[in-house]
Amino acid sequence: MQNSNISNKILKWYDNNKRNLPWRKKTSIKNREYFTLVSEFMLQQTQVKTVIPYFENFIKNFPNLKSLAKSSDQKVLKHWEGLGYYSRARNLKKTAIKLLNEFKGELPKDIDKLKTLPGIGEYTSRSILAIAHNEPYIPMDGNVERIIKRVFLLKTNDEVSKENLNKKKSFFGFSKRSSDYAQAIMEIGALICKPLLPSCSHCPLAKNCKAFRKKDFLIKSKSKFNKIKYFEANVYRYKNKYLLIKNKKFNFLKNLVIFPMKEINHKKFKYSVHKKINVKMSNMNMKIIINKNNKIKKTRDSLFLDKSNINKYILPSFTKKIFNSVSY
Ligand code: SF4
Repeated sequence: MQNSNISNKILKWYDNNKRNLPWRKKTSIKNREYFTLVSEFMLQQTQVKTVIPYFENFIKNFPNLKSLAKSSDQKVLKHWEGLGYYSRARNLKKTAIKLLNEFKGELPKDIDKLKTLPGIGEYTSRSILAIAHNEPYIPMDGNVERIIKRVFLLKTNDEVSKENLNKKKSFFGFSKRSSDYAQAIMEIGALICKPLLPSCSHCPLAKNCKAFRKKDFLIKSKSKFNKIKYFEANVYRYKNKYLLIKNKKFNFLKNLVIFPMKEINHKKFKYSVHKKINVKMSNMNMKIIINKNNKIKKTRDSLFLDKSNINKYILPSFTKKIFNSVSY
């Protein structure tokens, strides 16, 4: 089958089935660039359904590059709170400043220039070129990878190597509607060719798909296990207030507000009699002992917070979880 037939089938499916996502709204070229930039930063490492409310709230508060560039880091981070990977928010603001200062507020159409912007690497630059500028790129995200692996029934390590997947991507060909086409392929992966239960009866690629013919949908992938790390959080309470500090110690979630804590070993965690909680982060599973203390140990970065003022700060999910489990 010619690639133009493949692209026609995919685009027809997309026109009838695409999700109504807030960054896909019809808007001016300028807004489209900005919406693509913000959504692509948010979608790095985060699922669409999680991103939607954050995107809408972010655009309400920072409707354009200028408003984002002149906002304080604190305000930008506050509107990113809960989305994780906070360096994305800092980089997004830096990118807004650089675009205004060096690119007249426009997203470059040159991949090398795009990659000079903070937080924009190979994948995001290709997504921006395809989605915002209608350039003929098909960014290789997990969805596109999965479709290729199934269409060609790729199983061995060599077959699923990055190089081979990129070669096989030529199966899709290109379309003049590059922006829609890139999004359409990713959308098939997200809605139809799902990791566990693909809905092949609705898939425009079923006739071209080896996995469908052989009824073998198992995906060969590199296994990704989150590391488990153990911590002891020290909770100091004075009247209704709790002592929190700015995180200068751990390399993750730098400068966000946490309870004083230290990393411990598995044995100490296992035999501790204190309350324990588990928190799944995007890059590690945290197992935390909550140790209530009577003696207050203040440091230069100490903050005393209660329920009424804690929301003014940017809190990682584990700080919120500890706070909710000890406060009443
Ligand atoms: S036919 Fe099924 S397995 Fe093949 S690409 Fe479509 S949804 Fe995925």
